[in-house]
Amino acid sequence: MSAFNRRINPRFCRINGILPSFEGGDRPAFLYPVGRAPDSPLLERLETVYGQAPLLEGIPAPEWERRLGEFEDESYGPRQDDPGGYDEGAEGEMGRDELDRLAREAPTVGLVDEIFRKAVAAGSSDVHIEASRLAVTVRFRVDGVLTDFRTLSRSQFWGISGRVKIMANLNIMERRLPQDGRLTVDLGFERVDMRVSILPNTWGESIVLRILKRGFTPGSLADIHLEGRALELVRSLCEKPQGLFLLTGPTGSGKSTSLHAIIEHIRRPEVKIVCLEDPVERVIDGCTQVQINEDIGLGFAQALRRVLRHDPNVIMIGEIRDSDTAELAVRAAMTGHLVLSTMHTNDSVSALGRLSDLGIPPALTAGVLELVAAQRLVRTLCPACGGAPRPDAPCTACRGGFSGRAAVWEFFPFEPDVRAAFLAGAGDDSLRELNRAKGWKSLAESGMALVEAGLTTLEELRREIWIE
Ligand SMILES: [Zn+2]
Repeated sequence: MSAFNRRINPRFCRINGILPSFEGGDRPAFLYPVGRAPDSPLLERLETVYGQAPLLEGIPAPEWERRLGEFEDESYGPRQDDPGGYDEGAEGEMGRDELDRLAREAPTVGLVDEIFRKAVAAGSSDVHIEASRLAVTVRFRVDGVLTDFRTLSRSQFWGISGRVKIMANLNIMERRLPQDGRLTVDLGFERVDMRVSILPNTWGESIVLRILKRGFTPGSLADIHLEGRALELVRSLCEKPQGLFLLTGPTGSGKSTSLHAIIEHIRRPEVKIVCLEDPVERVIDGCTQVQINEDIGLGFAQALRRVLRHDPNVIMIGEIRDSDTAELAVRAAMTGHLVLSTMHTNDSVSALGRLSDLGIPPALTAGVLELVAAQRLVRTLCPACGGAPRPDAPCTACRGGFSGRAAVWEFFPFEPDVRAAFLAGAGDDSLRELNRAKGWKSLAESGMALVEAGLTTLEELRREIWIE
């Protein structure tokens, strides 16, 4: 190593994306990761320090990262707990100027733009950017499935994170607490809104961007795949002056899309609708939407208490997850409001047990409950290639044979005979049997119908719905 190398601090190297090269002889020489060439202010600074223009060479980013690790080990001695890549000391001490510089560099701006552009083009619902010890992974969620988009060099992380924070008006210096925000990307042909959630992790941060559709038009009941008897059931529910409708399913099962479609069906000038949502994902005209914010003490229960004073006809509660909200929802449904909400249960009948766990006596449940539905989304086979893209001629209309999704439904209308059986203490299994005897399909049966119709595969069904 030539003499000049000893005067350069590894921390400076990491922050600035350069590394002293062994090849330079007496002349200062630096390696940089390809795609992140030193900018002119940095070059001027190096020239001033060394009295001559340095030699520069670009090498693949992972190789650069590895060599920088060696240089750090040489300078500091190997870190026991932290053999390379992530450097808490150097990264932790980056000041606002350094972070700001990383975030505003042309390659960083270009990279973040490219990620957003590709994500939107792929029809993604979310973008996940996650720092790990040696790399940064970028993944897209398309049709509910997370797929790798690209693995980037570790050294690019704070630039990307900073760029996202600047775009979302978040605090670029905050790296220890979670932050939430919103940003708008101008992709030239369209503007796209994204909800940003940043969570610190061991190696930096995990950044999730939810892509929001601008100019969203709520779907109709047909768009959520309701037909026949089920469609009639939901239509008649929408006419009820009061009562409780519960939609169950895990996160990502399409519950909020369905609730919005139902709200859209109910919506007319003489009906006052209030939606308590966490988060408000789409703007619905003619409907008062309240953003739930637990951090400032506006949980579902607190918001619901206030909303009841506004005397709405229909109340949509994003989710019932605590006893206060459950009790208020039931009380509202008893006193002249149609209440629509969601719960995390495996199937429709399980919602009864969940209500009871939340302290609602069976008599009250029986008094207000009108309908429970369970929902899942399954990917549907691509109509262009029939779900079997040929390896030699990949299908341009889909990803791996799937394109779009369909809802799988299970309905459990709380009709007088069911109500009576429930009050007489019938267990979940006998209630399921009673429901099926009346011709209502279980989730698995509805899913199998889609497989038999050639719309999806058994494998896809198994992924979303537990079936034997
Ligand atoms: Zn296809």
